[in-house]
Amino acid sequence: MATAEKHHPIDLTVDKTARELRIEWADGVKSVYGFDYLAAMCPCANCREKRVEMEKNPLHVLSDNYGPAEFGDASMVGRYALNFSWVAGCGSGIYSFDYLRSIDPAQPEKPEGRKPGGSEA
Ligand SMILES: [Zn+2]
Repeated sequence: MATAEKHHPIDLTVDKTARELRIEWADGVKSVYGFDYLAAMCPCANCREKRVEMEKNPLHVLSDNYGPAEFGDASMVGRYALNFSWVAGCGSGIYSFDYLRSIDPAQPEKPEGRKPGGSEA
């Protein structure tokens, strides 16, 4: 890839009827994220911490985290990220495109938390 940004979307569709975010990437890959999954993967510091705690704990209680997420709002953050807020959920998640690409359920890239570096801002 020749661009400075690793992953660059050419089309972003928030489909409230299907309850999913669809992204078409510049390299031709298409990603689909259900709202429940997106809300559960909120990248803000609070939610990250919760997920780390959950990974350490052998007892996983998922019902709260994967409950039905109600879409609140979405907006662009500069040219590199999307902000999603969830009704009765977290409203401070800034989903960078690189992050979105890394959590694409259909892509074999490493999930969050297993990166060797941790060089995110
Ligand atoms: Zn959050």
